[in-house]
Amino acid sequence: MKLFDVYPLYDVEIVKGQGSTVWDQEGQDYLDFYGGHAVISIGHTHPRYVERLTDQLGRLGFYSNSVKIGVQQELVRKLGPLSGHDDYQLFLCNSGAEANENALKLASFHTGRKKVVAMRGAFHGRTSLAVAATDNPNITAPVNRTENVVFVTLNDEQELEALFAKEGGEIAAVILEGIQGVGGIRVASDAYLQKVRALCDEYGAVYVADSVQCGCGRTGKYYSHDWAGVNADIYTMAKGIGNGFPIGAISIAPHIAPKYGMLGTTFGGNHLACAAALAVAEVMTEDRLVENARKMGDYLMTELRKLPNVKEVRGKGLMIGIELNEESAPFRKRLLFEEHIFVGSSSDKNTFRLLPALNITREHCDRLLASLRKLLA
Ligand code: PLP
Repeated sequence: MKLFDVYPLYDVEIVKGQGSTVWDQEGQDYLDFYGGHAVISIGHTHPRYVERLTDQLGRLGFYSNSVKIGVQQELVRKLGPLSGHDDYQLFLCNSGAEANENALKLASFHTGRKKVVAMRGAFHGRTSLAVAATDNPNITAPVNRTENVVFVTLNDEQELEALFAKEGGEIAAVILEGIQGVGGIRVASDAYLQKVRALCDEYGAVYVADSVQCGCGRTGKYYSHDWAGVNADIYTMAKGIGNGFPIGAISIAPHIAPKYGMLGTTFGGNHLACAAALAVAEVMTEDRLVENARKMGDYLMTELRKLPNVKEVRGKGLMIGIELNEESAPFRKRLLFEEHIFVGSSSDKNTFRLLPALNITREHCDRLLASLRKLLA
């Protein structure tokens, strides 16, 4: 057997990690400003994370959602206040795509409607409805294509208003990232998010905030949508909330009522996933990592904007896009193999992303900045 060859790989294998440092097989260390794609939130092998997971594994790895699961209740108690939405309801699943799939399905159940409004440049995952709401024909199979999804341009309020005026009675949900990640770090304006909220209220549609990448404190608020001072009806989460353990979740406003059997999963909310998410929530709260993300993000953005040969720096907190005047792939390769620093790509070929752990330090930032300065000069 061989692996299904769908990933273009760097010729490097990471075998060990601690905090924001990872090591390859030869013992070479790397600074991790990619976090395995915005996944590592509290750092690799954080002692609390290792302890919680090891302890849980030694007692019980899995039992199904047909019985009470105490660690789910514990997670709800911690995540409620941390997310600033203690009155919301949590449904647990296994990935970001699955979180979006469940959110859109729930919006459709709730409204009895079937139209979904998504943004050009959006990425919501690879399952059927999530990929249909993703603006990339290359990853949408013929079976995924549906007239139920309508794309509009991010931050174009007039286009959204016109769409609602025409089809508002059929719209189940508007789904959008507070900051488009894969799309190249494109920030939704506060005014636009406020408009989404107002139109969803007026027409009875559900506002789905895809916070899979821009949530979990990364932007300096728990959800990046919080910057606009609005509440979404459903927040979708994954990546950072498990620090590498596969977990997805949706946080659902109190006015959306559950019904037995309407959503469900075998593995979602399993004991190990909850132990991982609990460790993350505890460390984020105790070490004030949302605040650190904001501080380090502000510092980085200010310094990055002083660098030569950078066209634009976009983002908030520790979700940063750096647009070069040229393609970023060769630059990222040099950063990795000459400076030993991981950063992320994006579908905007000139833009690369910084998505580090939320507990990075000023020293980590300075090391990155020195390397960028050297390679960009
Ligand atoms: N939504 C956003 C904004 C994402 O960035 C991603 C993954 O990159 C997803 C959804 C899909 O998450 P997953 O790969 O866990 O299915």
